[in-house]
Amino acid sequence: MIENASATTADPAAPDPGRRDFIRDIVREDLASGKHTAIRTRFPPEPNGYLHIGHAKAICLDFGVAQEFGGACNLRFDDTNPAKEDPEYVDAIKEDVHWLGFEWAQLRHASDYFEVFYRSARKLIADGHAYVCDLNAEQVREYRGTLTEPGRASPCRDRSVAENLDLFARMRAGEFADGTRTLRAKIDMASGNINLRDPALYRIKHVEHQNTGADWPIYPMYDYAHSLSDALEGITHSLCTLEFEDHRPLYDWCVDKVDLHNHPQLWDCLPARGLPTAPSKPRQIEFSRLNINYTVMSKRKLVAMVSDGLVDGWDDPRMPTLQGLRRRGLTPASLRLFAQRVGISKQNSLIDYSVLEGCVREDLDAHAPRRLAVLDPLKLVITNLDIDHVESIAFPNHPKDGSFGTRVVPFSRELWIEREDFMAAPVKGFHRLVPGGEVRLRGVGIVRCHDVVMDGDSVAAVHCTLDPETRHGMPGADRKVKGTIHWVSAKHALAAEVRLYDRLFDVADPDAGEDGTTYRDHLNPDSRRSVRGWIEPEAANAAPETHYQFERIGYFVADRRDHAPGHPVFNRTVTLRDTWAKAGK
Ligand code: ATP
Ligand code: MG
Repeated sequence: MIENASATTADPAAPDPGRRDFIRDIVREDLASGKHTAIRTRFPPEPNGYLHIGHAKAICLDFGVAQEFGGACNLRFDDTNPAKEDPEYVDAIKEDVHWLGFEWAQLRHASDYFEVFYRSARKLIADGHAYVCDLNAEQVREYRGTLTEPGRASPCRDRSVAENLDLFARMRAGEFADGTRTLRAKIDMASGNINLRDPALYRIKHVEHQNTGADWPIYPMYDYAHSLSDALEGITHSLCTLEFEDHRPLYDWCVDKVDLHNHPQLWDCLPARGLPTAPSKPRQIEFSRLNINYTVMSKRKLVAMVSDGLVDGWDDPRMPTLQGLRRRGLTPASLRLFAQRVGISKQNSLIDYSVLEGCVREDLDAHAPRRLAVLDPLKLVITNLDIDHVESIAFPNHPKDGSFGTRVVPFSRELWIEREDFMAAPVKGFHRLVPGGEVRLRGVGIVRCHDVVMDGDSVAAVHCTLDPETRHGMPGADRKVKGTIHWVSAKHALAAEVRLYDRLFDVADPDAGEDGTTYRDHLNPDSRRSVRGWIEPEAANAAPETHYQFERIGYFVADRRDHAPGHPVFNRTVTLRDTWAKAGK
């Protein structure tokens, strides 16, 4: 395992030590004042689903801060809720973090610390800070009070330390049924912050755990496990989203009352490897969640969309999961750039989907080689070439970057062009091919249309002549015509399945719930279309996950699952321009 977090690729969103936001300012100050000499952060997903683009924001922050300040970031699975967790999710999360370009200092699980949590709970009981409560969930709710009314003390609140220790030991031994008892912190039933009204620290759950098997019939609650895990790992800045702001007093209470730092007997059971010499007093800092329009991001809804078959699985290219975005053709650099653009603050906001699309275009414009593809083919015959005429034309792979080199594209008498590049009865302002008109074929020269072959009402083919004076190296090569169109050689091109993806929802806020609708009512029926296109041979041989710009059409990626050399399947990542803004949708 690598000690320091590091990005794997150089890109515009690479770590910039000058980057500013309120969290980085705090970190900077803590280093300058000597409060900390080294920074440690963590990314703590619960393995109960796949990561989504909101998590990418948190990952870029947690790992980014560590990177920029020469610190370290752990990946820690918050696996305290075994009923909902699955090793499938663990594997996907690890893969996604690596794919985004980050390396964790240590890989941890909250379950690594179950024994420490248990010992710590016994300490809290012994110190009079926790008690075993016999109220069931409904009664606890009833006793808790409301925002305007204080809560009432549980009848178990004043149990003796000895009785609490005994009952807690028996909870741990598995003597009691699920839900019959909890261990609760003894804080303040009248607190204005409901999280401090004697919150549960442990519950009984006879469920097997993916790491600890049947060892534990009791499981720690999130706030308790999270704060102590942070302290154990020597985390200096525990970064999380705003919904945890009201939990911060409980977080601090757990860290202070357990005081791992001064009680090594609580954690001497842990293997020393990789742990700091002493637990820290971590500082929790909250930032706003990422929200994007035209999408839903709660794991609960994403799980439902997968299990109800509204999408084709977690990696459906329309999903906001990292696996979905990856399959769609978004790149790690584009997501890092997006996280950087969105920035970090405490202000809740809704980011426009076009910001994400803009980041992908920017990255792929710079990094994706160009290829020729025709998605809605119309035959163009060059009648002044021999029937068996074949040429190889050198094309630059990137118009602005010579380092991409050139490739050879076969050219022959019969081509495919895009149907929309020809108009039999042209409208005003149409500058591509029309009967009797001229257009430049990219990389070839100027053709003039002299015949249109009809098949009933539709155009079956256009017949043209190629002006030899406009070919490469000829005196007329620079002659100007209004339009340039792309093509592929009909004899050489390969048929490809091309999946044209678009936004999954057709309204900006699919969750608004107006008129009693839910996100299920706003699925965009045009969010996936599949067409058979023709692509130049070079593109057909691409490895899966190769990104291309198909000239004049958009950015595409060879599908991770279904594409194979010789069986090309491409997904549209994004169009060249923002068609949603234009359509006023
Ligand atoms: P969800 O609410 O979608 O189910 P979660 O918060 O339960 O997600 P976790 O696995 O607990 O998911 O999240 C791990 C980390 O990612 C947490 O620190 C959480 O704050 C952060 N995170 C989750 N969603 C977002 C988001 N939309 N924007 C920024 N950070 C997020
Ligand atoms: Mg969570």
